[in-house]
Amino acid sequence: MEVKLVDYASAPLEKLYAAFRTCYSSDTPIQIWNKINSGKVEQKKIREFITERLKTGHTSPLEQVVFWFAIANVSRSLSHQLVRHRVGISFEQQSQRYVRFNRQRLAFVMPDSWRRAGLEGDFEQFMARCSELYAKALEAGLPAEDARFVLPNAAPTNFHLMVNFAEMLHICDVRLCVRAQWEIRKMAAAMRREIKRVLPELALSLQPKCGENRMGYCDESLEDWSKCPLGKVRPHKSSLFELYDRYGSTKARALSDEEYRAVEEQEQL
Ligand SMILES: Cc1cc2nc3c(=O)[nH]c(=O)nc-3n(C[C@H](O)[C@H](O)[C@H](O)COP(=O)(O)OP(=O)(O)OC[C@H]3O[C@@H](n4cnc5c(N)ncnc54)[C@H](O)[C@@H]3O)c2cc1C
Repeated sequence: MEVKLVDYASAPLEKLYAAFRTCYSSDTPIQIWNKINSGKVEQKKIREFITERLKTGHTSPLEQVVFWFAIANVSRSLSHQLVRHRVGISFEQQSQRYVRFNRQRLAFVMPDSWRRAGLEGDFEQFMARCSELYAKALEAGLPAEDARFVLPNAAPTNFHLMVNFAEMLHICDVRLCVRAQWEIRKMAAAMRREIKRVLPELALSLQPKCGENRMGYCDESLEDWSKCPLGKVRPHKSSLFELYDRYGSTKARALSDEEYRAVEEQEQL
């Protein structure tokens, strides 16, 4: 698998600062940018301000930071999962209609579990048979869009994709979690690593959802949490509720109609 951050929209930290500041300032966005460009707002202040804002639920400014990735040699199993993300992300994927694969180029992705189970040879034999049949179909004059019907989930594919920071955070929330499948988890980790190389401030928040800079706790099942290698350092939601029940000022219980009325009617909460 190859994952490369090809580019990102210029001045991402300044753009984030200006986007957030516009919401909280009597200055116009042009005045804010003049202060950034003249150095009146120091880089240190920009970074500190963004770090604080990233701790809040004010997330729409994060959509104004955009990354472009080149991703190669991942499986069609991974691509089925990746293209389910539909907000804040745009894909171009190598076509199996327009690209005719030849046997040398079809380097199938093999999970390590096949090797560990001693079934590597069977896997390779089966893939070789798929390649053979695929080549035979092309030779017989079938169009590539029909020959591809014999290609398995292990067939390799490539992406050029554009994703904004808000969606990148969401992808890391769910795909760095050990509940995610290993290959897409590996890809999300590589994307995070690429962003960290150039924008470490932003990468701090690219974590699985249980990370200290995200939700902070695990909302998956207790069984999954107990098997997770991070389970020892991040709490499960059930333990937080137990603590609340033990030490909180009230016991956690279901919300009542009265409480909904209070939310609806009270002007000052
Ligand atoms: C561990 C794991 C197991 C999975 N298992 C399965 C499975 O068995 N079968 C299966 O079909 N899929 C499965 N999926 C895929 C999953 O259901 C989603 O399709 C995938 O995570 C991407 O969807 P998203 O909502 O996160 O989309 P994104 O586009 O990444 O969503 C970004 C954000 O926008 C919100 N959003 C997006 N569209 C809408 C909308 N129309 N209305 C309101 N809010 C929206 C999302 O809730 C999210 O907060 C699995 C995913 C994971 C991580």
